[in-house]
Amino acid sequence: MSEYILSKSTYIRGLQCHKSLYLNKFRPYLRDKITEEQLAKFARGHAVGKVAQQLFPGGVAMSRPGKPSAEKTAQLICEGFPVIYEACFISDGVIVALDILVKQENGYNAYEVKSSLALSNVYYNDAYLQYYVLNAAGFRPEKFFLIHRNAEIELTESGDLHEMFVFTDVTAECKTNELFVQEGISQMLEVMKRDKSPDIQTGKQCMYPYPCDFRGVCWKKISKAEQEELLG
Ligand code: SF4
Repeated sequence: MSEYILSKSTYIRGLQCHKSLYLNKFRPYLRDKITEEQLAKFARGHAVGKVAQQLFPGGVAMSRPGKPSAEKTAQLICEGFPVIYEACFISDGVIVALDILVKQENGYNAYEVKSSLALSNVYYNDAYLQYYVLNAAGFRPEKFFLIHRNAEIELTESGDLHEMFVFTDVTAECKTNELFVQEGISQMLEVMKRDKSPDIQTGKQCMYPYPCDFRGVCWKKISKAEQEELLG
């Protein structure tokens, strides 16, 4: 069996809907087609993440998330390497790749970069999960920061990087939510053991926090009027 079953994206999917989590794993061919807009968003996120690495230059980047990257990350931490990009951790059946890990006097600070102009609940949940997995893997960061773009400053190659991004220390919230994450993971791992998808009715969760990409299947069973109501 693989060392992990959930990732950041599947955990966030599972928080939205357990049925979506199940279908994504066992019936991926039922997913709606990915849109150009979504592809552009992924590319934007990747590009902003690369720029943000320069806030802490000179780091070493882990390759694809997986056991070799997790082992390499652990080794670099042990050696006190100053900056690690895409630092990988596996614990409790979950794999995460943290954007940037930076050595401090007494440990490491963790940084997760978001390409958006503001923080949302999803980003906080992402941070809570990562903080939990890092700790469960035996590594407690000193502080955990979410970084997002400063809406008032344009992202350019020549500007002051520290003005282009906003840092939010979410360590205290991460600590408060450790039990919430633990319970969420445990429920999701149970869902993944099922031999059929959970019987979950369509509802507000189909559009929040993201429009679900299994609406093509689930919404077939509801009327146009109900669909319009869910679309708000
Ligand atoms: S469409 Fe709604 S009910 Fe169906 S998997 Fe997605 S969120 Fe769940």
